[in-house]
Amino acid sequence: MLNELAKEIHVNAVEHGWWDEERGFPEIIALCHSELSEALEEYRNGRMPDEVYRENGGKPEGIAVEMADCMIRILDWCGKAGIDIDAIMREKCDYNRTRPYRHGGKKC
Ligand SMILES: [Mg+2]
Repeated sequence: MLNELAKEIHVNAVEHGWWDEERGFPEIIALCHSELSEALEEYRNGRMPDEVYRENGGKPEGIAVEMADCMIRILDWCGKAGIDIDAIMREKCDYNRTRPYRHGGKKC
């Protein structure tokens, strides 16, 4: 499921020139941060989490859209790096179910 999406996203990114030059892992992380910052700005502007609006010629905008952008960045990297994100997501979700209530005692 996610592997197929990662492949589709990565093929599209390659076709649009985003991998014409090799990109370092720190750049990928920074771009994920930028999408999350865009989500925060949408929140600060009073947008609702599920609100999708269109500006700039129909481009979808909003908190959830920016969160999706972050996922797209991650899946693009998974596609590039040949990561089996389906297997890793399954393994981590299974592990998380075994963890104690609020493990680590942190506030969030
Ligand atoms: Mg964005």
